[in-house]
Amino acid sequence: MRIGIFGGTFDPIHLGHLILAEQCREQCQLDEVWFVPALIPPHKQTHTISPAATRCAMIEFAISGNSAFKLERLELERTGPSYTVTTLEKLHGDDPNRELFLLLGADSIHDLPTWREPRRILELATIVAVNRGRESFDQQAVQRQLTDRIGAINPRICVVSIPGIDISATDIRSRVREGRSIRYQVSRSVEAYIHEHSVYHL
Ligand code: ATP
Repeated sequence: MRIGIFGGTFDPIHLGHLILAEQCREQCQLDEVWFVPALIPPHKQTHTISPAATRCAMIEFAISGNSAFKLERLELERTGPSYTVTTLEKLHGDDPNRELFLLLGADSIHDLPTWREPRRILELATIVAVNRGRESFDQQAVQRQLTDRIGAINPRICVVSIPGIDISATDIRSRVREGRSIRYQVSRSVEAYIHEHSVYHL
């Protein structure tokens, strides 16, 4: 099984996330993409993050009907900080025959050398480097970056290109607060959930 791992805050999950996941699934021939919402400790919060149960409910609505998409709660069940390497070790340990693919945008790839045990991350997973819109990097550039900065030997990389979709969770939250439309930025079910449960309404 080829499994894509897609981490984020998902507050809320929006169509940019879903398009990214679907394009990675298709372009890297993944069997499944697992959405892994992060546990955000209070001292790391830049805004009030919705409770994990709310973020998970929205993910479940957004991915329902797509049998290739799954919600994986393991980071929410941990007490300590969510390190990517710990997540990958656990998923690999659960089933070593799984092939793991870590979905990362250009910013995250740039930051990867500062993460805990980056070399181990590259041993555990193929990096899916997502080119968004006008950003452009090719396989060799990513390979060079990871080899030079992390000292990885032959990191596995899959480059995926997706159209630039200018949707952000931050913007969606402020739209809801201001009573503006979020239609076509999130799925209908997520939009309904946000309004029914007054998520982001002050
Ligand atoms: P926020 O605005 O709260 O920072 P966000 O919309 O960037 O949130 P995250 O939950 O942080 O959402 O997203 C997880 C990952 O999804 C990001 O690291 C980024 O790679 C990707 N992502 C976010 N928005 C988009 C988008 N519009 N198109 C493609 N990928 C996106």
